[in-house]
Amino acid sequence: MAREKTMGILIKGKPVADSITEELIEEVIKLKGKNILPKLGVVRVGKNESDLAYERGALKRMAKCGIEAQVFEFEENISQKDFITKLTQINGDKSVHGILVFRPLPKQIDENAVKHIISPEKDLDSFSPVNVAKVTEGDETGFPPCTPTAVMEMLKYYGVDLKGKRAVVVGRSMVVGKPAAMLLLKENATVTICHSRTNDLPGICREADILVAAVGRAEMVDASYIKTGAIVIDVGINVNKEGKLVGDANTASCIEKASMITPVPAGVGSVTTSVLAKHLVKACKLQSGI
Ligand code: NDP
Repeated sequence: MAREKTMGILIKGKPVADSITEELIEEVIKLKGKNILPKLGVVRVGKNESDLAYERGALKRMAKCGIEAQVFEFEENISQKDFITKLTQINGDKSVHGILVFRPLPKQIDENAVKHIISPEKDLDSFSPVNVAKVTEGDETGFPPCTPTAVMEMLKYYGVDLKGKRAVVVGRSMVVGKPAAMLLLKENATVTICHSRTNDLPGICREADILVAAVGRAEMVDASYIKTGAIVIDVGINVNKEGKLVGDANTASCIEKASMITPVPAGVGSVTTSVLAKHLVKACKLQSGI
């Protein structure tokens, strides 16, 4: 029997990021016209390479949007007590409208002891339990984490109607998998969440009209996980054995069956900093009563 072969298309992040950025540039001009100067605070402990790479991208994106950004860098060995003091100060600074804290924090800092410090209206990446609850409630006044929001921005930009569709999310982390599932549910998809103990993972994935891979395993999802015509959103960022940046899906294999797939790099990852900027502008407006 001849093998079924429908070549899908790569859906890239850049047009999505550019479109969000264009809107934000206009909004920031309007805010500045009212003498409101939107400002982001980035809190980084230590010099983790992936944090630094994300930070460079975030600063570039803020500059493009006309948003000021300040990096608060702390030593890797900062004590929990000192970190709490500093984070409380940053949160209390009225000129800072939104805060991004790079996680995970070093071992000596218990996230449970610090997660309430950032005010929910300044918490751009869903660190605060208040925002976690709002995502679950479908309350749009909150801030879902930037990465799953970027997934939703990709789907919206490329015109994917989620209503009544079967969505499968592989991964149940608090930063990607779970909130992605909640956001898909809010758009009326029927959602299944899979994880490392899921039985027959490829079989469940093959039921998906929309498959979100957030596993953290280089190129684990291949064509055998894909229903013909499915849409694959690859959140993964991994370095493979050859030192190449790859996703959680094997793009070349999946594209033989999928109708659309996001590449890695140049996919979801390129949209997250524009979502961060969008959240910052939203936070700034909230705090200014606009
Ligand atoms: P985590 O390691 O926190 O979570 C991974 C999830 O995948 C867990 O729920 C785990 O299940 C599940 N999992 C692991 N192995 C398997 C398996 N063999 N079969 C089924 N499920 C499995 O990762 P994150 O959620 O933080 O990140 C996911 C991916 O997204 C990573 O590649 C990461 O690099 C990337 N990422 C990308 C970002 C972006 O901006 N594009 C931002 C953040 C992350 P269990 O719960 O049972 O352990």
